[in-house]
Amino acid sequence: MRTLPRVLIVEDEAPIAELIAVNLRHNGFQPTWAMDSETAQRELDAVLPDVILLDWMLPGESGLSLAKKWRKDPRTKGVPILMLTARGDEADRVAGLDAGADDYITKPFSTKELLARIRAVLRRRAPEQLGGSVAIGALLLDASTHRVSYDGQPLKLGPTEFKLLHYFMKHAERVHSRGQLLDKVWGDHVFIEERTVDVHVKRLREALGAAGVLIETVRGAGYRLTAQPLAQRQPAAVATPS
Ligand code: CA
Repeated sequence: MRTLPRVLIVEDEAPIAELIAVNLRHNGFQPTWAMDSETAQRELDAVLPDVILLDWMLPGESGLSLAKKWRKDPRTKGVPILMLTARGDEADRVAGLDAGADDYITKPFSTKELLARIRAVLRRRAPEQLGGSVAIGALLLDASTHRVSYDGQPLKLGPTEFKLLHYFMKHAERVHSRGQLLDKVWGDHVFIEERTVDVHVKRLREALGAAGVLIETVRGAGYRLTAQPLAQRQPAAVATPS
């Protein structure tokens, strides 16, 4: 089985570290917590994480200084660093990025945004590290463990629905005809009627629950999975006659 991406959380405030760790665990990551710079260094020496969440204000050596140090070290320089901090000033943000941080997130932050940013730095740094997993917004599919979750909540999918979702997620935003879906998901030697696709799409939507709206029917064309479904889009501003 594929190992889950490891996240080292360097944060001296236990409640924040705990909140982050719980959310990471629910979303398919393997978090480790270090409450100070010395513990963080020990953790890094032992196991190299896939990403580091680094608090700026730490007792002893600051996060900024740690980021600089880890960027210089050949062993750790490839590990993405996401700085966590209460500081929101532009000058501080620039200092954080100059120190080698890949991204910067200001406290208080939403855990959803934090997760999205972690996935983004992982994708940018090493796409192969996430190998069999695909994320579209809060929807996460892990091909190697056959797990699907939405907003951290695990979902139960049948094998065909799983394959269908995997295909949709790998080719998000594109419209697929029923015939194309039959070829790509069922294989082109399978003789089944196109309306079978409709049955499975219906089942998939049901299994996805709240995320079901991500799969749109495009009239006369087929289906598409979108990160911004019509059902969730902000209504366009209505022009008022002047
Ligand atoms: Ca702190």
